[in-house]
Amino acid sequence: MSIEPLLRPNIRALKPYSSARDEFTGKAEVYLDANENAFGSPVGPYNRYPDPYQREVKAKLAKYKGVAPEQIFLGNGSDEAIDLLYRAFCEPGQDEVILVPPTYGMYKVSAGINNVRIKEVPLSEGFQLDIPALKAVYSDKTKLLFICSPNNPTGNSINPETVRAVLKSFPGIVVVDEAYIDFSRQASFISLLGEFDRLVVLQTFSKAWGLAGLRLGMAFASENIIQVFNRIKPPYNVNALTQQKASEALDNIAMKDAMVRDTLSERGRMANAFRQMTFVKKVLPSDANFLLVELPDPVGTYQALIKKGIVVRDRSKVLSCEGCLRFTIGTPAENDLLIQELQNLN
Ligand SMILES: *Cc1c(COP(=O)(O)O)cnc(C)c1O
Repeated sequence: MSIEPLLRPNIRALKPYSSARDEFTGKAEVYLDANENAFGSPVGPYNRYPDPYQREVKAKLAKYKGVAPEQIFLGNGSDEAIDLLYRAFCEPGQDEVILVPPTYGMYKVSAGINNVRIKEVPLSEGFQLDIPALKAVYSDKTKLLFICSPNNPTGNSINPETVRAVLKSFPGIVVVDEAYIDFSRQASFISLLGEFDRLVVLQTFSKAWGLAGLRLGMAFASENIIQVFNRIKPPYNVNALTQQKASEALDNIAMKDAMVRDTLSERGRMANAFRQMTFVKKVLPSDANFLLVELPDPVGTYQALIKKGIVVRDRSKVLSCEGCLRFTIGTPAENDLLIQELQNLN
């Protein structure tokens, strides 16, 4: 099936901006085409516009992920990809998105910014997809459906068989957000890209790679969808420093893997520590780099921890997360401090 009918008519008709680096891509002696400063800069070799298609990073990433470079979009954080999905597929005031709360908050914010109506189908028992309830709300106006796996803030993975069922039944674009996939035993949905041309898999350099400050998000999808992203993104959406550092990081995948191993071992230790605290009501199983923990007085605990200089995330007002705080896994020393302060408080 082609994605063309799903696109907004104005996006289908769009003639994209053609940047200087679109019109000339070879190597030249003298560049006098982009109104750059030929003399340099006060801080380093950043006077030239960056590669608009991030070819070096994509070549390394394609090899690592087992996809073609043409199946990759890179953005200013995953948040840019989320926004572009709405802008490409959802006619403001007309089209709809399906969200499955409790889930990542940006899908809702971005829908609001783009004036896209939201249909919410809450996750059912064990924070899993409710397939009959989802099928009941599909319409020719529902263009996007976001699934976060492992899910933020609950930490569990979504059963892959149910994601497959959605991919088979939903007529729009299915987005699987895998921001935490490196911490999970589940396989990435990237391997299903050949089978489903309406699948978009989001990943990020912000979590396992330890590069939240660079702002680099990845989207993997069929070439058709990536071409749409490339047409509507700001021409130089990923800056030169970010491209350079991401490329260096991809030369040291072993360090990322080692940090993931350390996080997983601390996650196990912290889950045990929480379970041994008599006042803790529940510790949810996690495939991510955080734990959702139910406490008798979440807001009081949150405030008391802040007074001790420890900031955690209060999720106690989120649907089905009542009573819960979300604890990111820190270094062993940070985690020890958290355990100690929690014990002192109770
Ligand atoms: C942290 C997170 C992201 C990452 O967003 P960036 O903009 O790439 O930093 C994406 N999705 C989920 C569910 C997250 O928790």
